[in-house]
Amino acid sequence: MTDLHRLSIREISEGLAAAKFSSRELTEHYLKRIAKIDPQVRSYVTVTNEVALAQADAADALRQAGQATALTGIPVAHKDIFCTQGIKTSAGSKMLDNFISPYDATVVAQGKNAGLVTLGKVNMDEFAMGSTSESSFYGATKNPWALDHVPGGSSGGSAAVVAADLAPFATGTDTGGSIRQPASFCGLTGLKPTYGRVSRYGIIAYASSLDQAGPMARSAEDCAYLMNVMAGHDAKDSTSMDKAVEDYVANLNATTLKGLRIGIPKQYFNVAGLDAAVKARVEESLKKLEELGAVLVEIDLNMTESYVPTYYLIAPAEASSNLSRYDGVRYGYRAENPQDILDLYKRSRSEGFGAEVQRRILIGTYALSAGYYDAYYVKAQKVRRLIQQDFLKAFEQVDVIAAPTAPTTAYKIGASLDPVEMYLGDIYTIAVNLAGLPAISAPVGFDQDHLPVGLQLIGNYWSESQLLSVVHQYQQATNWHTQRAAIAEENA
Ligand code: GLN
Repeated sequence: MTDLHRLSIREISEGLAAAKFSSRELTEHYLKRIAKIDPQVRSYVTVTNEVALAQADAADALRQAGQATALTGIPVAHKDIFCTQGIKTSAGSKMLDNFISPYDATVVAQGKNAGLVTLGKVNMDEFAMGSTSESSFYGATKNPWALDHVPGGSSGGSAAVVAADLAPFATGTDTGGSIRQPASFCGLTGLKPTYGRVSRYGIIAYASSLDQAGPMARSAEDCAYLMNVMAGHDAKDSTSMDKAVEDYVANLNATTLKGLRIGIPKQYFNVAGLDAAVKARVEESLKKLEELGAVLVEIDLNMTESYVPTYYLIAPAEASSNLSRYDGVRYGYRAENPQDILDLYKRSRSEGFGAEVQRRILIGTYALSAGYYDAYYVKAQKVRRLIQQDFLKAFEQVDVIAAPTAPTTAYKIGASLDPVEMYLGDIYTIAVNLAGLPAISAPVGFDQDHLPVGLQLIGNYWSESQLLSVVHQYQQATNWHTQRAAIAEENA
């Protein structure tokens, strides 16, 4: 079969169950595509050929023995922020270029238990700080829709592999939009779950109170399959929630659009910098949802102007604390010939971290320093609470909230946005992390350059099932999610 990469997860699962093809054939098919096409996209940091084939054979053996589950033998790509035992885990940084994790992240372990086959580890902004994947030590990943554009970030590699059909689905992490924005830039569906739904154990930390992992795939249905594997309580993560996991696949039709109240925040559609084509596509998608039975309700989210400043204090503050462990002593990059211990610290960190990471460590350390802690960090935490309350008030009126995922489509590679310009691009995604809410991005069309546009739906706590279901209903009635970039049509 030459078109195995065109199958949805459900079709792959059914094909494997009916012995139309084996996991070995499927895995070889993807590895061949990666070898041929990834030199153009540059999405994989590490391709794990041998591990993948061994896992595929093991999956086929399990199936022979009648012990396969729905996902046994299906390949996946992991963002290079998830620790993988025996395989390099770089977080896109020179600091961890030599780091081989001695253990698996819980998400990776759960994937293995379900029989997923690891194709490799994919590129990302250094330590997940960024919106373009250009800050990676390994260089920029290309957007499969237009190779001179970025795939978004920080989970840009995860988005690019799926959009170029170099993996059927991928894991990502989202601290301030890093699942949703690359999904939007690459025409995919991506879910950022409620904080605490997916274990953070073994995920290289950026900002611990905001980080959350989730699935990236073509459709809500494909995301639901991966979410079934990723979600769950983990005793190894004290912030993971001990709450029963729903069957996201079984629930895909559980929510009806008839009467679903969708909140439209006035402030969101008046943001300076909201691209006209993005606005138009999002409004068209809302119209479609209305046709399908949803009711649009105008709402207020009065804290909108505070999102960027609040996030860009809290996230760097937590990052400065999390990244203090990279000192050249314990693990990771170590400067050569240090003169003394201070020289070792200074040079290991100056040489091992890139510019954006250093900038955030500086901002965060400043905001946490004795003289400024109350004025900046404590103040930001108070505003964070107000942002959360703003959302909770809105959810008294509506079931979900709609927004663009990002104000623009994908930037050109090297567009050299200054940092503040880049931060402003996070306006629609970061408040969700500050409040700990779940949100999903789904493709809803293209701009004049045929670059994908994403619609974001934000739900109340623990409403992952509902969000997936709403997008699934929309995708049953539209075909944006089935469109493929030209490069994905190439055969290996
Ligand atoms: N772009 C945001 C940042 O740079 C979000 C990144 C993320 O979600 N990891 O912090």
